[in-house]
Amino acid sequence: MFTRIVLLGPPGSGKGTQTERLCTEFGFAHISTGDLLREAVRTGTPLGIKAKRFMDAGDLVPDELVIELVKLKLAKCPRGFVLDGFPRTLEQAKALQKICMIDAAINLEVNEEEIVGRMINRRSCRNCGAVYNLEFNPPKKGGVCDKCGGELYQRSDDVEETVRARMKVYKERTLPLISFYGSRGILLNIEARGGIDEVYRKIMEKIRSS
Ligand code: AMP
Repeated sequence: MFTRIVLLGPPGSGKGTQTERLCTEFGFAHISTGDLLREAVRTGTPLGIKAKRFMDAGDLVPDELVIELVKLKLAKCPRGFVLDGFPRTLEQAKALQKICMIDAAINLEVNEEEIVGRMINRRSCRNCGAVYNLEFNPPKKGGVCDKCGGELYQRSDDVEETVRARMKVYKERTLPLISFYGSRGILLNIEARGGIDEVYRKIMEKIRSS
């Protein structure tokens, strides 16, 4: 079984949701650079203050800041991990290779229009970070998290204009990672349209047959 996994895919492709499942089932640590950065912004740390303007513009936070953040986290995950939203540039992928070997890079493939639709309908819990979709996975009660009762909100970078900017950044900076991991023989492509359960089933099938 793979224990050091990277989850690739455009913003809104379901990386966070699928990572959560894998981690719950196998006891891996879930490392989401987006969540770590949002927490740093929320609590006003020096990292958060530097990162905020890049995040608000839908741009990437500079490599050196994110790499340092991940390095610190990985040191505390001896039982395996799934990296969600990292690496996002070739520089980050190369830095990660120096920190540790990766067993599998799971690439969630979804087309752009579907993604924009998903993201502008996405709502996140302010308290526990759970993610909902108003169309496919709505909360039982509007505006309230099913898991913890926290308030649901729309991330400031989930509005359409910023979503389009993030897609552009993804194509320019993150897409090259697919051939990076492909050439190392550890890329698992998953056709990720459809429901959460179906996509998870496809991931598990690919993992088992690899
Ligand atoms: P996410 O929640 O993964 O969609 O990330 C939200 C935002 O955090 C991104 O649009 C970037 O501004 C920033 N971010 C997250 N992960 C990274 C990363 N690996 N490198 C640079 N910026 C990142």
